[in-house]
Amino acid sequence: MNNDIERVLYSKEELNRRMDELADQLTAEYKDQRPLIISVMTGAVLFTVDMIKRMDIMAKLDFIDVSSYYGGTSSTGKVKLVQDLKSDVRNRSILIMEDIVDTGHTLKYLIDLLKERGAKSVKVCTLLDKPEGRQVEVKADYVGFNVPNEFLVGYGLDYQGYYRNLPYVGILKPAVYEKN
Ligand code: 5GP
Ligand code: MG
Ligand code: MG
Repeated sequence: MNNDIERVLYSKEELNRRMDELADQLTAEYKDQRPLIISVMTGAVLFTVDMIKRMDIMAKLDFIDVSSYYGGTSSTGKVKLVQDLKSDVRNRSILIMEDIVDTGHTLKYLIDLLKERGAKSVKVCTLLDKPEGRQVEVKADYVGFNVPNEFLVGYGLDYQGYYRNLPYVGILKPAVYEKN
């Protein structure tokens, strides 16, 4: 698996250090709000569990699965709800946890959906942000790292369902997806 990686962008240690900082900020913001933390499956699950352990707050956790990639390395722009939340979001303070924001279609879809359902506030924490990829205007409130416009895998990010369990974030060798 490691042989398919061109370059490591963020090591396990760098990820941990940045998560410590982000979690402190989120703890300060949410300590009196009892937020509902919504983890966007499947990519953000690793980031979410590592973050919530660092956050000293009362919070609930839920998951939503949306899909826009359909297995390739670029977004189709269309977002589909694959698995809905269990929770009622009405009048709740919502914190969305994402792995990466690229075109912004997924995030815009989620924010619109939660606001439509009556959420009190919706904020976003993403491990990675690819500002160059943006096609719709949407902003994350908390960003771990701004990343270049390359196809990344690891620490939750997949290529065709694989590589999520790499403990670091890296650039996938183009040869891996070019041969498919
Ligand atoms: P967006 O809707 O902003 O284009 O994309 C959001 C989703 O696309 C992310 O949650 C992630 O699943 C996927 N994605 C975007 N960029 C990358 C990338 O570089 N690598 C991987 N593995 N997935 C990505
Ligand atoms: Mg995602
Ligand atoms: Mg994916």
